[in-house]
Formats: sequence, structure tokens, C-alpha cells
Amino acid sequence: MGKIAALRCVSCKAEYDPDRIEYTCPACGPRRGTLEVLYDYEGLRREVTREVFAQSGDASMWRYLPLLPIDGMAHVQPLRVGWTPVYRFPGLAKELGLSALFIKDDGQNPTASYKDRASSLVVIKAQERRKPVVTCASTGNAASSLAGFAAATKLETVIFVPETAPEAKVAQLLVYGARVFLVEGSYDVAYDLAARAADAFGWYNRSAAVNPYLVEGKKTGALELAEQLDWRPPDRVFVSVGDGSVVSGICKGFEELRRLRWIESVPQVVGVQAEGAAPIARAHARYDGRRVEIEDVEARTLADSICVGSPRDIVKAVTYVHAAGGRFVTVSDAEILDAMVFLARRSGVFAEPAGAAAFAGLRKLAAAEDLNGTSAAVMVTGSGLKDVAAARRAVGRPIVVEPSIEAIREHL
Ligand SMILES: [Zn+2]
Repeated sequence: MGKIAALRCVSCKAEYDPDRIEYTCPACGPRRGTLEVLYDYEGLRREVTREVFAQSGDASMWRYLPLLPIDGMAHVQPLRVGWTPVYRFPGLAKELGLSALFIKDDGQNPTASYKDRASSLVVIKAQERRKPVVTCASTGNAASSLAGFAAATKLETVIFVPETAPEAKVAQLLVYGARVFLVEGSYDVAYDLAARAADAFGWYNRSAAVNPYLVEGKKTGALELAEQLDWRPPDRVFVSVGDGSVVSGICKGFEELRRLRWIESVPQVVGVQAEGAAPIARAHARYDGRRVEIEDVEARTLADSICVGSPRDIVKAVTYVHAAGGRFVTVSDAEILDAMVFLARRSGVFAEPAGAAAFAGLRKLAAAEDLNGTSAAVMVTGSGLKDVAAARRAVGRPIVVEPSIEAIREHL
């Protein structure tokens, strides 16, 4: 069983032996019965200190190996994942009424998205379990990330993406050598098909939420942010939300640091959803601390990475954010595009629409409330180069000129 103490169902709290269960709680089913990985926190507190990480010298998320559910470094791929930069922007912070603004740029991961943190871990799990084929459904980033990390191993990948997935993400999949199925239908349809195919053919499933180890990779963004800011995380952390796994991971990361007494308190995590795809924000608003009411929607937003109508990690996302005293904000597509351009022009960080959504959420909150000199971090979860068509919509086309100084002068 290794270092994992148990896998626990987020709904009925039943605990399972990780050697005996692969995906979700049989009693609660795949939607409500997502599992969380529990460790022996008392033991960890005795054995591991913050100094261990500082001394590790590993500039990747694997510096947190003692807090991750793998047996060792044997199957870790050579690609460098995590330990992405945190930038400070004092001028922007002041404009927004903040004491400090930090941008953590996960577009700098090997396949240019936050999803690499989860994919690298699942590729290791597949090898530990001797599964030769991994599969997943994805709006795009999780798939290209899985294909990239599997390419560094002998694993084969079979990918299901909605036929509307951005071209750059599909091209990325094919370049990495994945077998790609463009599914006629939405991401939610592709998700169900991937689960059925994994079941029918015995493939290891990396689709969001169903695999309990994904959130473990995704929590490393929180661990890094805390360590990079000298174990004093900001007052608020903004992150965009689709299936709910990344926001769950970030909450879990901070909560584990608090349990280990490496940080004093957890920041307020602010989940940002697109107005046209906000079932988790709505469920959180209705949540009374007992049962998460799930109401799916027909998702519509240009931020393809968070265009999710049937979020699979909704129970985790709502309960974790609630437990941490966090909140949700929704933003329109126009606000997302505006935030994407504003962020790029003022910081040099080019985020894809979903990544920019988190910044749009911060701007919206800053306009509506006095942030009162508090500090905030924004997780940029994917590179803008992943979805050039969306960027074009925001900025239009450049000027075409004949090659002469006179022609240029006319346009100045
Ligand atoms: Zn259960």
C-alpha cells in the first residue's frame, strides 16, 4: 500500500485499500463517489520538514515526493514538470487595490498547461500498475498533456476529444503520436465514451475526477506557491474551474500544508467559472454543508478548457472550497477576452481563455469590492498559444502593407 493511508469517498466517507480499488466508490457511483487520497499525516509531520524541500535541489514538482502517491522515482519521466515561475507585478497590484499580485505561469510546463502536473503522475501510476494503454477524454489540455508525457515512455495513448477542440490542441495530440478520436458531441459525451472504452478494453483511465491520483498532481501548484512565497501564501488564490479537479487540488494542497503545520492558515481559494458553464458555482451557492445538489447545464463558453456542463469533480470542488472558506465568481466571455489581452499587455504573460478567466475573476472582484490591501495570486493554467483563434477574436488582424516607408507612414 506504500505511503497512502487510504482512499476515501468524498460523499459517504467509506475508506478503501488503494490496492483493491481503482477509480470510484462502488456504493456512491462515479459521479458522487470520487475518492480522495489520505496519507499518514502524523508520520509525515515527524519525518518531513520544510527544509527537506529547500534542500532537494529538484526544480520540479517531484521535490514534493514525500507528499505524492507514488512508490519512488523509477517511473518519473525526464520531462520537467512544475516549479513554474511566480511573477510579482507591483504596479498592477496597486491598480487593483492589492498589496501584492502574483501570477503563477503554468503555461510553462512541457505541454503548456497545468494538466501536466496530473498527467505525469498518472503515467507513473499506469506503469506501476503495468497498464500498457492509457486513455482520457478531454476538452484538449488534459489529453495533449497525457499524450506528451506518455510519449516519454512506452505507453500508448487513446484520446477522446469533442470535435470542436481547438486545432492547436488536436495537432499537439497527433504530433505526440496519440490515437485520437474526435467525438461527435460535447466534452461530456466524449467523457462517457472514454469511460466505456476504458472498461471494455482494459485501458487505464486518466479522465478528470474518476482517477483519484489526478488531484494529487494538481495539488502541487499550491505547494509550490506556498514555498515560492517563503511559506506565506497570499490572502486569495484565483483559479478557473471546469470539471473542478484543479480547484480541488489547490484546496487540498493548502489544507495538507496546514495540517503539517507548514503554513499557518489556508488562503481563500476563489474558483472562477464562465457564466455559460457555471454548474459548480451554482451548486456552491446552494450548498448548506450537507449534500451537494448537482444540476448539469448545456455548457457554452469560448474558454474551451472550462466548457464543462457535467463537471465530474463537483462534489470535491464544492465541499473543499466550502471547507476552506473559499468562494466562486462567474465571468462573461467578453470579460475573459478582455482580461486575456489586458494581462498579456501589462505583464507579458499570454494565457489561454481559461487561464485568463482566473484573472478576469480577480478584476471583477476588485471592481465590486474593496480588496483592502490584501494579496492575491492568479494561476494561469494554460498558454495562449494553445488557442490562437480565441486570441484573434480579441485583437483583430494586423495591418498589411506594401514594403515601403511611405506605406508605413500612412498607417502611423
Ligand atoms: Zn461512497
